[in-house]
Amino acid sequence: SIQDCAILHNGVKMPWLGLGVYKVKNGDEVINAVKTALEAGYRHVDTAAFYDNEEGVGQAIKESGVPREQIFVTTKVWNSDQGYETTLKAFETSLKKLGMDYIDLYLVHWPVRGKYKETYKALEKLYKDGFVRAIGVSNFQIHHLEDLMAECEIKPMVNQVEYHPRLTQKELHAFCKQHHIQLEAWSPLMRGGLFDDPTLLEISKKYGKSPAQVILRWDLQNEVVTIPKSITPQRIKENADVFDFELTPEEMEKIDALNMNKRIGSDPDNFD
Ligand code: NAD
Repeated sequence: SIQDCAILHNGVKMPWLGLGVYKVKNGDEVINAVKTALEAGYRHVDTAAFYDNEEGVGQAIKESGVPREQIFVTTKVWNSDQGYETTLKAFETSLKKLGMDYIDLYLVHWPVRGKYKETYKALEKLYKDGFVRAIGVSNFQIHHLEDLMAECEIKPMVNQVEYHPRLTQKELHAFCKQHHIQLEAWSPLMRGGLFDDPTLLEISKKYGKSPAQVILRWDLQNEVVTIPKSITPQRIKENADVFDFELTPEEMEKIDALNMNKRIGSDPDNFD
């Protein structure tokens, strides 16, 4: 079901499917999207300080009537706040905006050169002090993870990266699996850019599912946590309705074969 969870290396449960809210406006837009998702059974929301909508996310959760502890909330420290003390301060701001007393998952948003290790130390501190149930990174390549893990005390529990049928991240995924780091897909739907692909359309026809649903199902069967974004109630519900069919191994391979190592977002080695 939509409330099925991945189990992180510290035992914390993270729902496989969540709502992404990048570019969703603070206020009614994000409040309505999060409420619709919670009503549809979502128990996982992905925001970031950078998205400037943490207040609305927090308000929606509060007003939804779903107990806080039943919802998995992720937020992220933005690049301009990286560093030890500045991250602790940024976390406090996020917590206040969300109106919460803990976060489920706090991520280093991008591997800012020369800074991400200090930033991560602050995450370790927050974890040890009980303010976050899990910590992790985002947009880390293998070399960033190796560099971080050579020194860190607590291995990251999650790496959230761009991941979709045009960017299947095979090596990174294998590396993460080997180290029990849960891979999480951002822009899983390639922001809508794949829906006329003939392979996806063919599979979609067979199951009576949309291409978006086929892609999200492919994420789940690959054991990748996924956080599609939508503000349209119909699509928010559609994106959650992916637990009643199963792609064959052959179909999984056909979708894998759409890979072109093509990014739509920034390159983690060259983003600043
Ligand atoms: P996405 O791949 O989730 O695509 C979202 C877009 O796809 C929507 O705006 C809509 O146009 C379309 N769409 C969604 N559901 C649909 C459906 N059922 N049918 C037809 N069209 C549909 O793109 P995203 O928002 O970039 O990524 C998802 C989330 O990942 C973000 O909201 C954010 O939470 C996270 N993210 C993280 C990073 C990072 O650096 N860590 C970067 C980008 C996004």
